[in-house]
Amino acid sequence: MSELPALAPWQQRAYDQAVEALTSGHFGHATLITGPALIGKRLLAEHLARRVLCLAPRADGEACGACKACSLFAARAQMEVAEVRPDGTPAHPWGHSTHPDLLFLGYEINQKTGKPRTEIVIDQIRALTASMGLTAQLGGAQVVIVDPADAVNWSAWNAILKTLEEPQPGRYLWLLASSPARLPATIRSRCQRLELRLPPRAEALAWLRGRGHPAELAEEALEAARGHPGLADAWASGDGLKLRREVLSDLDALQRRSAAPAAIAQKWVADGRADERLRHLAEQALQRAGARLDAPTVRALAACFDAANRARSLLQSTVRADLAVLEALLPWLPAATGSAR
Ligand SMILES: [Zn+2]
Repeated sequence: MSELPALAPWQQRAYDQAVEALTSGHFGHATLITGPALIGKRLLAEHLARRVLCLAPRADGEACGACKACSLFAARAQMEVAEVRPDGTPAHPWGHSTHPDLLFLGYEINQKTGKPRTEIVIDQIRALTASMGLTAQLGGAQVVIVDPADAVNWSAWNAILKTLEEPQPGRYLWLLASSPARLPATIRSRCQRLELRLPPRAEALAWLRGRGHPAELAEEALEAARGHPGLADAWASGDGLKLRREVLSDLDALQRRSAAPAAIAQKWVADGRADERLRHLAEQALQRAGARLDAPTVRALAACFDAANRARSLLQSTVRADLAVLEALLPWLPAATGSAR
């Protein structure tokens, strides 16, 4: 059997929901799998793919682990698991299928520049629809996984829409998106939804403990990640919590005016982890706003929250990174936040 990691309880719930739809014949051609980054959308899709591709399912419908489809899937899953980036995303999401009826669409290397593209382009969809036009090579189902669907560009969507308008039995298109609102309404309306939600705190903590994190660290990470176990796991595993503590101490220095905003901004962009820091900053604004009741302070913190998120999207643009970060720091200065501190 493949080395695919087991599903976490909250992923299992979504999986069971999909299986119920599959067995009752209500599972659609196109499914939008949603949930925040690192919650397990890809893993859920992998498990579902293994199930629907199996050529000789067990009595309960689960993959047999022995047929040709399962063997090909296992070979692929091992490759994928071996190559995962620190943030949990596969290092090479594109072209990693050793199974002819399992296709992935993700960030591709631009042959002209040698760098990964920042969006999914129409040429990729054309190649995909050409493959989908053929009958399944193993005689079973065909699965296409688009990850992340948020990165599909406008003209590529038009091409995808065409495949949505010609559904075929046994052919599945799964769109993975952490910001489904960015997808065109015409696409969303044609997809069923499978949503991965944040689990209850006790379940998330038990899962983190099961991943080998000590109780105290698991709790700190889960609090920092606002209940998101996948994010908490990433932070508790790497130096994410150390980074968070640094952000809090920089924020303190900023508010005491013992460090200049521009100096902090430069420090934050120097190691390429500005986005992570801004995420902690936004989370701080939310957390403090939750502890306060007076309206002016809450408004000031809301401005801090918005500024951090605006800066995160500015980091994706051509704006100088330290200037983008500076914009997120200024609303935290004592004059701006009043009694927020
Ligand atoms: Zn099988």
